[in-house]
Amino acid sequence: MNVLDGQRMAGLLESQGLSRTEDPFESDVLLLNTCDVREKAEGKVYSELGRFSDWKREKPGRVIGVTGCVAQRAGLRILDRLPYVDFVLGTGSVEKVPEAVERALEGRRGAFLDLDRDSPVYQFRSIARESPFQAFVTVIEGCDQFCTFCVVPFTRGRERSRRSAEVEAECRELAAKGFSEITLLGQTVNAYRCPESGADLSALLERLCAIEGMRRLRFITSHPAFVTPGFGDVLGRQPKIGRYFHLPAQSGSDRVLSRMKRRYTAARYREIVADVRSRAADVVFSSDFIVGFPGETEEDFRETLRLVEEVGFATMFGFLYSPRPGTAAARWGEEGEVPQEVARERLSRLLDLQRAIQSRTNRGLEGSVLDVLVEGDSKFGGTLSGRTSCNRIVHFRPRPGRPVRAGDYVRIRIDRGLDNSLAGTPA
Ligand code: SAM
Ligand code: SF4
Repeated sequence: MNVLDGQRMAGLLESQGLSRTEDPFESDVLLLNTCDVREKAEGKVYSELGRFSDWKREKPGRVIGVTGCVAQRAGLRILDRLPYVDFVLGTGSVEKVPEAVERALEGRRGAFLDLDRDSPVYQFRSIARESPFQAFVTVIEGCDQFCTFCVVPFTRGRERSRRSAEVEAECRELAAKGFSEITLLGQTVNAYRCPESGADLSALLERLCAIEGMRRLRFITSHPAFVTPGFGDVLGRQPKIGRYFHLPAQSGSDRVLSRMKRRYTAARYREIVADVRSRAADVVFSSDFIVGFPGETEEDFRETLRLVEEVGFATMFGFLYSPRPGTAAARWGEEGEVPQEVARERLSRLLDLQRAIQSRTNRGLEGSVLDVLVEGDSKFGGTLSGRTSCNRIVHFRPRPGRPVRAGDYVRIRIDRGLDNSLAGTPA
């Protein structure tokens, strides 16, 4: 979502006559688009800003703006603390970036921190997309879940869905321009409800699958509590929907899940996986886990390992718990705090387990033939890389005389399953 916000701001500034530079030190206007999800990301914002303080002072007229989630939550404090920052602009004010820059160029500082409560409407025609064939499209903004560890409801505001008709119009325009893969975005994308028709994510996905030119449709991130009974059927029926279901579990222990206020149990999570697999066998799962959440015992952590082992995720993101300002868990203070070295040791056990599972499942794909959307040069010289519908990275060398370009779909026979990717040959 931050990437898309960045593309929206770039597009709006380009229509105002600004152009891009690759080197930030050569720019006249510098925006730092920030993430607030973990403390480390927030810390990075202040160290990055420090790097540009001299640059800003060296030449009058240079502009620095801080945008995104850190700006939304700590905007006024940033303006107070860092006199060289010209403006702060939060997640609800992306469309105001031209005004913020214009005012800053006139020497006026400003804070743009309003958060909408209405269904979002944005200027999708002026987004500066980075790829000519892959696009992000927001369907729902904000979050009402208030999981006890998470800062997002404070930085992105209340949950609000875009109208289905508007989403469809944007996707149709994208498909007509050659965008063949679209990823629908939302913090809880499957809580989507069209404010006009009441259509849910299943209905929206089916509607978008009918668009000519649309070859792959993805959606991130889903919350287990909002998975509807018929969702597996929709995945089974619609092969255009990416065979990849990112469904963060966060923990395998019911005690921890309840302290996190996640509103599902590990058994319910297993049930969703089994149900989807019975209706769409080729869909793979991926997940997020937080390790070292306050009160997590060794037994709780083993429940997480059990869930990871049983489900066999295609990919998994493991995070050390990071206390965030304003959240319920941060208010618990030292109660139940897991020592850093214990949390780190658990995270490395979790990641080791996942690595073993991934290399096993990736090796299991050897010999199969998969459709790959080519994304560009691979890090291995002379080869290209792309992604399968199940979101695995594939490296391959094109056959002589059969040129392949980024944006093409090619059939690749998988020769080798590696830890984090696959290697193959055009079939
Ligand atoms: N909305 C998504 C969901 O409900 O799963 C997740 C959004 S969050 C931006 C992405 C991931 O960051 C979460 O799934 C969680 O694992 C991780 N995360 C969020 N807050 C965290 C915290 N305080 N400490 C560590 N990891 C955190
Ligand atoms: Fe954060 Fe996701 Fe929970 Fe919302 S549902 S509070 S975004 S973790």
